[in-house]
Amino acid sequence: MSPLPDLIFEISREGKTAHGLGASRVQSKPAIDPGLLRTAIAGFPQVSEVEIVRHYMALARLNYSLDQGLYPLGSCTMKYNPKINEKLAASEEFQAHPYTPHELVQGNLELMARLEEWLVALTGMAGFTCAPAAGAHGEFTGMLIVRKYLKEKGDPRRVVLIPDSAHGTNPSSAHFAGYEIREIPSNAEGIIDVEGLRPFLKNDVAALMMTNPNTLGIFEKNITAIADALHANGSLLYMDGANLNALLGIVRPGDLGVDVMHINLHKTFATPHGGGGPGSGPVGVAAHLLPYLPVPRVVKDGGKYGVVFAAPHSIGRIKNFYGQFLVMVRALAYLCSLGRENVRQVAEDAVLNANYLRKKLQDVLDLPYPTATLHEVVFSDKNLPVKTLDIAKRLLDYGFHPFTIYFPLIVHGAMMIEPTETESKETLDEFIAVMKKILLEAREQPDLLLQAPRQTPVRRLDETLAARQPVLKWHKGENR
Ligand SMILES: *Cc1c(COP(=O)(O)O)cnc(C)c1O
Repeated sequence: MSPLPDLIFEISREGKTAHGLGASRVQSKPAIDPGLLRTAIAGFPQVSEVEIVRHYMALARLNYSLDQGLYPLGSCTMKYNPKINEKLAASEEFQAHPYTPHELVQGNLELMARLEEWLVALTGMAGFTCAPAAGAHGEFTGMLIVRKYLKEKGDPRRVVLIPDSAHGTNPSSAHFAGYEIREIPSNAEGIIDVEGLRPFLKNDVAALMMTNPNTLGIFEKNITAIADALHANGSLLYMDGANLNALLGIVRPGDLGVDVMHINLHKTFATPHGGGGPGSGPVGVAAHLLPYLPVPRVVKDGGKYGVVFAAPHSIGRIKNFYGQFLVMVRALAYLCSLGRENVRQVAEDAVLNANYLRKKLQDVLDLPYPTATLHEVVFSDKNLPVKTLDIAKRLLDYGFHPFTIYFPLIVHGAMMIEPTETESKETLDEFIAVMKKILLEAREQPDLLLQAPRQTPVRRLDETLAARQPVLKWHKGENR
């Protein structure tokens, strides 16, 4: 990997410039009082065009991206995103001010309506809203729907049950929606069963939030029995559908008794994500919850598309305007380019790839739950002379982005690997070979792992500090 680029401020020299248009010959009256205009920006670097281009290229090379190689983060579905989606999302036709009169943006409204139809068809839910801006935002929206529904039924409840394997966003979303969280244990197979659930089913339980397939990559096969037990108790079943990539075109949560779910467009339906980029976490509901969906909602009325801004039972607005529209453009482009018949192959290939990795690595790594897995596999660092972190850091030296580490929490030293459907057998074989090599090094030359990474611009970081107090600006002479 390239070394850190020269800081642009250090190569700055008085008088250098990156543009060469010359002075304007157009006479214009300044719209702003010249006294208020800056003549120079204090401390702004002065560099040539070549230097600025090289500076940004060098910075870009410090990044790792899916366009560069495998990105096997589990619970993330970091799949390759076809460039046609980006092209369409960037095309001028879709750019519109949110206050544009609806007659002038019929195409945009139709796009949102058609995406909702696709999601309904793929999940078997009765209706969708694409307003939430991320998975966690979808969870929060879903739990507000649960709360309003139960309240209007005259049976408000205060507890939400969440399995110990859940994604961390589940308990926080339910908490922010006003609920008390109770954790329920997974069984030896790594899933929830009705017997284990029964003692928790009191009349104060509003809902159970279940991730399916769960964060071990295991399908919650008792889901219909669990849905029945919940419904008999007057409780609802929320499904975290961020792992829908494993089920696409094969299983419809709506057929399994799910009352409300969210999916992640930026995982399953192709939008580059990570680093806080724009996401979208549509929420789907069963028929009895349709009136509670947030507004605004796109509706078709007499061949034209319009927008409903208020509905008597709706939880109201949860996002300004309509949500992350350009993520919806990408999702619909992705679905249309696959076609309804081929969507299923996404899940089939994702599951095949993950199981190929599992099979090839299960002799060299501990598999804490032997239960069959779908789109991802979770190993542990049991019996290894080094820690999961050391293996992840050593992968960087071999040019691979590491897998998710130390999650789910129920696995000691978890290594959670999700290759997705977009990786070829050749890439997977390369990854497997590198993993085996690293595991050999762990026994023979553990220092190579303990001191990794050596090939990256920066070595081991204080990751907590980097996340909590990132240094995002550089000013000559000081960091702030
Ligand atoms: C990614 C993920 C989420 C949260 O989605 P964000 O868009 O990151 O908020 C929730 N649950 C599961 C299982 C996930 O994988």
